[in-house]
Amino acid sequence: MGIANNLLQIKSTLPEHVTLVAVSKTKPVSDLMEAYEAGQRIFGENKIQEMAEKWQQMPKDIQWHMIGHVQTNKVKFMAPFVSLIHGVDSLKLLQEINKQALKNNRIIDCLLQIYIAEEETKFGLDEEELASLLSSSEFHEMKNIRIVGLMGMATFTDNKDQIKKEFLHLKTIFNKTKEPKTENCQLETISMGMSGDYQLAIECGSTMVRIGSSIFGGRN
Ligand SMILES: *Cc1c(COP(=O)(O)O)cnc(C)c1O
Repeated sequence: MGIANNLLQIKSTLPEHVTLVAVSKTKPVSDLMEAYEAGQRIFGENKIQEMAEKWQQMPKDIQWHMIGHVQTNKVKFMAPFVSLIHGVDSLKLLQEINKQALKNNRIIDCLLQIYIAEEETKFGLDEEELASLLSSSEFHEMKNIRIVGLMGMATFTDNKDQIKKEFLHLKTIFNKTKEPKTENCQLETISMGMSGDYQLAIECGSTMVRIGSSIFGGRN
């Protein structure tokens, strides 16, 4: 077994249009390097400080994805290098990302997180909040962010029908929202699916899966 084998095994099963984010949170740089040596270039982390430390230590052709809940006051620490922020769930957060991106003279790609689960602990916008964010004048004025897709997390359950229903809900919202494309809103990506449910997510339209434990092993 081992990290490289796990990674290559999973990659061989993914359709070509699906991007693999290797979720490396809590894992040491040596583990990430094993995946890197096996060809992986996209890593997902859920804590900004941990991601920044790994970014400093690792090769610069890695794309770093922030997959966790983002606190507004920490955006500045990742703005110089983050390649995609998955969990954007408010206009206020988007405004801060836009501001920090401008300071760094770049455009930062973001996904809007949609609330699809029945668990109250999960974050995200509902369909109405998504529509009102995208139609607001504040949003249209932002020139240093680009919304490139949507992200969602299904309920933590063994009930496949429930998970499927939630994934299809996200796909439906995506289809309704993807036109018209504008300068800062070009929906292409649906980020859904983790170790336990990524095959189902792909069947339901996912184009980006976030896989941690099936590659790196369990976390404490
Ligand atoms: C940890 C995490 C994952 C990966 O979970 P695994 O079950 O280990 O594959 C995916 N997405 C998010 C948002 C996470 O926090």
